[in-house]
Amino acid sequence: MQFFQFTEEQDMLRKAVREFVDAEVAPKAKEWDENDHCPVELWPMMGELGLCGVFVPEEYGGAGLGMTERAIVLEEISRHSAGLGIALMTHHLGVAAILYYGNEDQKKRYLPDLCSGKKVGGLSVTEPGGGSDFMGQKCTGELKDGMWVLNGRKCFITNSHIADVDVWTVITGQDEKGRPVMTAFIIDGDAEGHAPGRKEHKLGLRGSVTGDVVCNNVKVAPSQMLQKEGAGAKIAMTTIQEVGRAGMSAINVGILRGCIEEGVKFANERIIYGKPLSKVQAIQLLIGECRVEYEAAKLLTYRAAGMRDAGIPCATEFACAKYFSTEAAVRSSKRIMDAMGGYGIVNEYPVGRFLRDGLASIAAGGTSQIQLLIAAGATLSGK
Ligand SMILES: Cc1cc2nc3c(=O)[nH]c(=O)nc-3n(C[C@H](O)[C@H](O)[C@H](O)COP(=O)(O)OP(=O)(O)OC[C@H]3O[C@@H](n4cnc5c(N)ncnc54)[C@H](O)[C@@H]3O)c2cc1C
Repeated sequence: MQFFQFTEEQDMLRKAVREFVDAEVAPKAKEWDENDHCPVELWPMMGELGLCGVFVPEEYGGAGLGMTERAIVLEEISRHSAGLGIALMTHHLGVAAILYYGNEDQKKRYLPDLCSGKKVGGLSVTEPGGGSDFMGQKCTGELKDGMWVLNGRKCFITNSHIADVDVWTVITGQDEKGRPVMTAFIIDGDAEGHAPGRKEHKLGLRGSVTGDVVCNNVKVAPSQMLQKEGAGAKIAMTTIQEVGRAGMSAINVGILRGCIEEGVKFANERIIYGKPLSKVQAIQLLIGECRVEYEAAKLLTYRAAGMRDAGIPCATEFACAKYFSTEAAVRSSKRIMDAMGGYGIVNEYPVGRFLRDGLASIAAGGTSQIQLLIAAGATLSGK
């Protein structure tokens, strides 16, 4: 076993993303949070830098890198704006569904514009009946006169109001045992009858748009179907498991690093008892706990990403990484708030936003309980 180390190329990528983030994200993250603004205007620039299609092969307009590099991108962005982090990460979900499950024509038609940042992507799976009840989805697709007609409402959808390319799951029938047959379609955002609905006023991750998306008799050609009828459950589940949870883990590694950096800065600058706060051992313990949790979240996240890049099954590893990093982000931001005393609740400092972003990350991509059930299921079955 080798010890964990990024390659020189990965370090260079991190440096390049950090420069972009320092110039374009850090100065505006607070404003995006306050105004609940998703900076969709950054998409072309992120496209040019290769961030919109970081794991997409170059032949489709991507950067030709992998999930490890994607995690680096999301960590760096989320160090300052986890809101933009989840917006980009969900764009990647739409991209991934098309890249991994689309046919050649679909890939050529959609991926170049998604990678260049000309278009924004999304993945609409969750319904009002409960995101955890994945197979209980009620949105429907019916084949009429050679076209699929889609109906229903999705909720809690990131990029709901900005996605130009929206991958949907619908129920298109029942199998011989009466089980729902789930099918996935690519919908053009401007298709007639496809529209955003209610927009959520969220506690955290406010640099992203989250809301309902409605299909009202949306007609899509059979060529918009991903793979075949009945493949939707696998497409949505693997995309959420291996791309969604990977993304949420990396976003929260970014929040954890932000907590440490802000905590150290504050503790060195704040003078108490005539010396810096950082000299107080109780404060050092808080910083030490944050460091341990950051290191653990980073190892879990990048190990799972590395497994994904090596083609090794990693759904359980991503469930563990997602559970740990999101819960740790909440604990660490609370710790740093404690260390800051009264200043911890002042919005001039980002730590309150980190706490809200960590909390808002817990349900996205599946709740903590669901991640624990996945970890338990694998463990109990000896995997
Ligand atoms: C910020 C954000 C962004 C999101 N973006 C997207 C997106 O882009 N696309 C998309 O499709 N969805 C998205 N979601 C939805 C997300 O996937 C769901 O919120 C999540 O799956 C949980 O579903 P729910 O909110 O309906 O909660 P429920 O499923 O209703 O769960 C309620 C509670 O019951 C618990 N629970 C449910 N079932 C079990 C069980 N079997 N055992 C133990 N406990 C259980 C849950 O853990 C939770 O505590 C997003 C959510 C958030 C918060």
